[in-house]
Amino acid sequence: MSRKLKKINCRACQGKASQRGYFYRCHKKSCGAVFWHRAVLSENLGDDKVYSEVLRTANVPKSRGHYVYVILLDRLSGELMNSAYVGSTGRHPFERYLYHLKGTQSSKHPRKRGKAMLYFEGPMSFEKSQIREKQHADELRAKNIYHKVYDPTLKQTPSDPNK
Ligand SMILES: [Zn+2]
Repeated sequence: MSRKLKKINCRACQGKASQRGYFYRCHKKSCGAVFWHRAVLSENLGDDKVYSEVLRTANVPKSRGHYVYVILLDRLSGELMNSAYVGSTGRHPFERYLYHLKGTQSSKHPRKRGKAMLYFEGPMSFEKSQIREKQHADELRAKNIYHKVYDPTLKQTPSDPNK
């Protein structure tokens, strides 16, 4: 945990971000994006003590219910806009984001090209989170600001049948 990481600007708005451990938070109120440095994966996250310490140092709050969150995804080659991933969770969304990166209950989209968690909604009930997840994904699709909006119920494309 003593590892020194470089200052990184917000991956969503390029503004200044503050760092705690491996976790960065955008300073801009109008943005508010957060992200993990992928160097966090060099820690032995399978070890409960190490894992708790990573969360504690990053000041990740405890979960108080269920949440819906949005992760910004990097473009694939040929795409003109970023994509987004909408998910729901019973963990705090900042911790859930780490789960995606470390490959536990992970979707390949945030694992491979997650740039930042843009925002989340909640806490709310489990039932509400299930409804909001799908609803919010549809709302984002209607806005047309992303190349593609993924959610866990979305079918994989035929060119990628395996995962
Ligand atoms: Zn920002």
